[in-house]
Amino acid sequence: MQTKILLDESHIPKAWYNIIPDLPGPLAPVINPRTLQPVTPDDLLPIFPMALIEQEVSTQRWIPIPDEVRDIYRSWRPSPLFRAYRLEQALGTPAKIYYKYEGVSPAGSHKPNSAIPQAWYNKQAGIRRLATETGAGQWGSSLALACSLFGLECTVYMVKVSCTQKPYRRSMMQLWGAEVIPSPSEFTNAGRTILAHDPESPGSLGIAISEAVEDAASHPDTNYALGSVLNHVCLHQTVIGLEAKEQMAIAGTYPDVVIACCGGGSNFAGLAFPFIADRATGKQVRCLAVEPASCPTLTKGVYAFDYGDTAQMAPIAMMYTLGHDFVPPGIHAGGLRYHGESPLVSQLYHAGAIEAKAYKQTACFEGALLFARSEGIVPAPESSHAVRAAIDEAVLAKEEGKEKTILFGLSGHGQLDMGAYDAYLSGGLEDYEYPEALIRASLERLPQVNV
Ligand SMILES: *Cc1c(COP(=O)(O)O)cnc(C)c1O
Repeated sequence: MQTKILLDESHIPKAWYNIIPDLPGPLAPVINPRTLQPVTPDDLLPIFPMALIEQEVSTQRWIPIPDEVRDIYRSWRPSPLFRAYRLEQALGTPAKIYYKYEGVSPAGSHKPNSAIPQAWYNKQAGIRRLATETGAGQWGSSLALACSLFGLECTVYMVKVSCTQKPYRRSMMQLWGAEVIPSPSEFTNAGRTILAHDPESPGSLGIAISEAVEDAASHPDTNYALGSVLNHVCLHQTVIGLEAKEQMAIAGTYPDVVIACCGGGSNFAGLAFPFIADRATGKQVRCLAVEPASCPTLTKGVYAFDYGDTAQMAPIAMMYTLGHDFVPPGIHAGGLRYHGESPLVSQLYHAGAIEAKAYKQTACFEGALLFARSEGIVPAPESSHAVRAAIDEAVLAKEEGKEKTILFGLSGHGQLDMGAYDAYLSGGLEDYEYPEALIRASLERLPQVNV
């Protein structure tokens, strides 16, 4: 009984998988928020390097991973794939449960898979500093790490409510040399406007993105880096699924269902897209994206053009959205509090090619506790959504008396999320109702795009 399936360094993928040529249809254009016309590369050059702009629209199926990036991937990739024997036993399920564990990266999540190449391409383009936003601090710490490895400066606008919930993530960013600014801040027009309306604003990813984009756009030596949502971020994350496919083959099996939690969608994309590609060869695989019930972008949002940020500075994309000025409740899975969704994941969902499900946070923590007590690893609150959904699939298999192979993404560990676990264990963890009125109001303010 092999519990852990490891690959050696030579199996780190040499190219990322780009799903764009294999989508069910053409992608809608991305729209410039000022002109309401399709964006041109020139519109994006003030904030992104050309190499990443090219990846954003590339129709090339395989994009080579630069050697310098693979060299750094080597310090934690290929990441392990585990068979969750003890969890299966605890559930008494006939299902086989596997999980791909991204918590082994230095920052403790999947996010360095994209932070490293983003910092590298910016360095190649002669950029001196990167500005970004962070929710729970996972992306900020990953970019801080990447910048420190390539000698770039890093400024992180951190959602204010997360600064108090996750103080050690802030310390981690500072340890890696980044400057951390609680958002909304007085440093940008976007931040000042929000504070004038609501001095107590807990912040949101949408607001922090506005601040980081404004910072980058107003400084020629500074670019912006986004930790999810965009096509090139989903692309970089496909190392997860490409490795997992090899590891499942070594285990002599193939998943019936692939499950991952979904914030902006890059983690889900990274695990699921390489499996979706196999459908062309006749493989039947379900893919399930799991999101919080309090920020239910796929399950309760609309498929429409919307701004990527609150201040309407970031490009407008066709995606599932809850409205760009919707501020989600302060759940502990801060990395899942985003109003929009990757346009790639959105298009696949709209086409019926993937499934989605939403859970309240106490149900997720309950699953995380069972997982920690059977498998040992403490899941990040974001990852606990995938854990919960995998448990429910396994319980269903038991009720139906069916064998089933489940693969889920354990996107990160939760060792810096003990505040959240404390709240759960002491019975103080709140479930938020689905904020229907707020979402409905926000959806009334979608941009009118006619292209
Ligand atoms: C950020 C984060 C997520 C969400 O990732 P997306 O790619 O935006 O969907 C999931 N898990 C962990 C541990 C994270 O840090």
